[in-house]
Order: sequence, then structure tokens, then C-alpha cells
Amino acid sequence: AKSAGGGPTIFDNIIAKEIPSSIVYEDDKVLAFRDINPQAPVHVLIIPKQRDGLTELGKAEQRHEDILGHLLYASKLVAEKEGIADGFRVVINSGPTACQSVYHLHLHVLGGRQLKWPPG
Ligand code: 5GP
Repeated sequence: AKSAGGGPTIFDNIIAKEIPSSIVYEDDKVLAFRDINPQAPVHVLIIPKQRDGLTELGKAEQRHEDILGHLLYASKLVAEKEGIADGFRVVINSGPTACQSVYHLHLHVLGGRQLKWPPG
């Protein structure tokens, strides 16, 4: 696993549009874009534009409640936009044991095929 520290990540470059991404949804608080290595026909990442210490869900503080709720609601908007609102999954990998690789909190929105459970 890469560093779990609080330094900049590739997602800062995506927010700044210094590296291109395929944007699915954007508002003043969050950005949603297609995962570069999709694990399903629809695989979108949703991130807060201001990381504000949210490197991982395990670091969340009470002040993050609003953005966490907004991210989850944005996942439903993304699912609708992508035509998968009747069946999709939202995943947050938090920390190295959960295989988190980018330390800027992000939701994975997955769908477009039959998903398996448990995920492994
Ligand atoms: P994690 O394992 O941290 O939960 O997920 C990080 C995700 O970011 C991975 O699914 C990976 O494919 C995706 N990712 C990493 N770098 C880039 C990038 O430069 N562009 C995009 N669109 N996705 C990326």
C-alpha cells in the first residue's frame, strides 16, 4: 500500500483538471469521474473537492458529516445519470487493510452487471 499520509494525491491533479478525467457529475462540493481501471461497466469515483483531512473514512471527524452525506447523495445522482439506479453498489476502501490506494476519500459507484456478495 502507498503512503497513508496527508500529502497531495493524483486526485488533486484531477480536481485542478491538470490531468484529464471523464467527469460524470460535478457541483461546488464534489467531483465524480470514471475510474481509470473499471471493475464493472459503470465504475465512477466521487470525491470531495476539499479533502479537509479526509484522507480515509477512518479519519472522519464530526465536522465531515455534511460532506459525507452529500457524497452519498451524489452517488444516487450518479447512479441515475448512468442508468443503474435500480441496482448498484457504493464502496469506500478505508486504509491499507481494505486496499485503499489513493489517500483522498472517495466513493466507488459500481454497476451495470450482476455484482457478487461477499466482495472478498
Ligand atoms: P482505492 O483502491 O484507493 O479505493 O481506489 C483508487 C481508485 O482510483 C482505483 O480504482 C484506481 O483505478 C483509481 N485511479 C487511480 N489513479 C487514477 C487516475 O489517474 N484517474 C482515474 N480516473 N482513476 C484513477
